[in-house]
Amino acid sequence: MRYSKLLLPTLKEVPSEAETVSHQLLLRAGMIRKLASGIYDYLPLGLRVLRKVEAIVREEMNRAGAQEVLLPAVQPAELWQESGRWQVYGKELLRFRDRHDRDYCFGPTHEEVITDLVRRDVHSYRQLPLNLYQIQTKFRDEIRPRFGLIRGREFIMKDGYSFDVDETAADQTYEAMYDAYSRIFRRCGLRFKSVEADSGPIGGSFSHEFMVLAETGEDVVVSCIACDYAANLEKAEVVSAAETGNEAPAPLTKVHTPAVRTVAEIADFLKISPARILKTLLYETDQGVVAVLLRGDHEVNDVKLKNLLRVNELALAGEAVVRRETGADVGFAGPLGLQVPIYADQSLRGLANLAAGANEDEHHYTGVNLDRDVDVRQYADLRQITATDPCPRCGAALEFLRGIEVGHVFKLGYKYSQAMQATFLDANGQERPMFMGCYGIGVSRIVAAAIEQNHDADGIIFPVPLAPFHVLVIPIALQDEQTMTTAQTLYEDLTAAGLEVLFDDRDERPGVKFKDGDLLGIPFRVVLGPKTLAQNAAEVRDRRSRTMALLPLASLVNELRQRVQAGIQT
Ligand code: ATP
Ligand code: MG
Repeated sequence: MRYSKLLLPTLKEVPSEAETVSHQLLLRAGMIRKLASGIYDYLPLGLRVLRKVEAIVREEMNRAGAQEVLLPAVQPAELWQESGRWQVYGKELLRFRDRHDRDYCFGPTHEEVITDLVRRDVHSYRQLPLNLYQIQTKFRDEIRPRFGLIRGREFIMKDGYSFDVDETAADQTYEAMYDAYSRIFRRCGLRFKSVEADSGPIGGSFSHEFMVLAETGEDVVVSCIACDYAANLEKAEVVSAAETGNEAPAPLTKVHTPAVRTVAEIADFLKISPARILKTLLYETDQGVVAVLLRGDHEVNDVKLKNLLRVNELALAGEAVVRRETGADVGFAGPLGLQVPIYADQSLRGLANLAAGANEDEHHYTGVNLDRDVDVRQYADLRQITATDPCPRCGAALEFLRGIEVGHVFKLGYKYSQAMQATFLDANGQERPMFMGCYGIGVSRIVAAAIEQNHDADGIIFPVPLAPFHVLVIPIALQDEQTMTTAQTLYEDLTAAGLEVLFDDRDERPGVKFKDGDLLGIPFRVVLGPKTLAQNAAEVRDRRSRTMALLPLASLVNELRQRVQAGIQT
């Protein structure tokens, strides 16, 4: 491709609306443009990268025995009413009406549509297992679209769905998908980790997420330094034993605590460690207000709380609700005398003589003993794991990493097949629901995640398998005929050798071309000019290592082909 002909509008300045590196670089490298909040145009360079990701995903899904389909983006409400999700999906679901006043949505995911397809055409165990996938545009009206392609409203997803005769068969499919995903992210040239993920109130290891490791990731990954345990922070179980002492219970004592509210302030005021303070948090849920108790030095894990309560929505109660339930300001809430159900984190079990809010402004209690003083409905693992907790599997130390979720494999079970009657006749002629799994990959998010993980101060450093071009050819003396003809020939020879080449034929200063080249992140750059041509050589530079080599012209095609091949796994 000739640079002069390409729609490749690079930007010198960092666009002010872009908070993350990938968003900035995608805009600066002329790969995407914003049309509306969370909605982007893909320009030629951006689309090339997207297509690279798609091709790898497609190859590996096909290799694993999945079949590609293409389902409609627009979906009738009836299907969502059948599954029950029309009511529960909330505002992320973009709903609209057609001219006949019928309700539709733009698909945020396709469980309903695929289940409907399969129930109409698959009726026998002989037709199972079946694994179908598509690569398609999704729309989710995200509350906070941000970071460019990482959290868009319109984005490209690979979504796959499997149908098996029973759970044992589904486990094999799940494993095949897990392996396919590992191959996909390895082939994309990304550093990633697969982690146990939340799978709702059922619990268990029915779900894994694939995380591209990057400092800027929104997700926190908890990973054991000794065994292969790794989990999303929201899933990571806490197994630390409660630190019970043999302290005799002290009497409850009300203390005047003016102007202290935070755990740190109270600890300071009462001269005790934050671990001895009982934190009382009120939550509003779709089933009313509940109180959660934790040690002052611990944080609630909302996902664990949601799963325990089996609620869809959960939010920390505001000032008004706190006053209504406790009779005091936020900061003085405590469990004594509370009328709402009280749930306590398991690490509080047996702890003696804690300090807690007194449900009265500017007052706390000391000598609180939950067993004696409070009616706790249930103790459970409700807190966020910390860096000082041991690995829940082997007890070794944990490390915390940041990641971007790029893929998700999930055992759905009978949720949709039962609700929508996707059944088959087994070998004995018995009618049974199909066991389903679903498998998502954020195709457009991968483009951004690859950049979050691979960049430097000058721009993108594309992993070879995702690079929009393999080689950038830069002639630096446009007036020099020999330079231009050699560059042109090299461009043609490299292309003929199967490499993807960007030929910077623009009438620009070398400095400008070098800067743009670094920004675009093309793995290999060849610079041609009269000085090196006099030695029958050209300068080849590796974008990642920044190492340069003067190579004979005659060996260039071979050398570059080898370097590109070394970077691409099949
Ligand atoms: P998240 O927790 O990031 O919102 P999710 O759990 O909603 O993700 P899934 O429903 O499992 O995501 O979707 C499958 C994949 O699609 C995700 O692993 C992610 O890579 C991608 N994805 C989800 N939401 C978005 C989005 N708003 N923009 C871009 N990619 C997304
Ligand atoms: Mg989401």
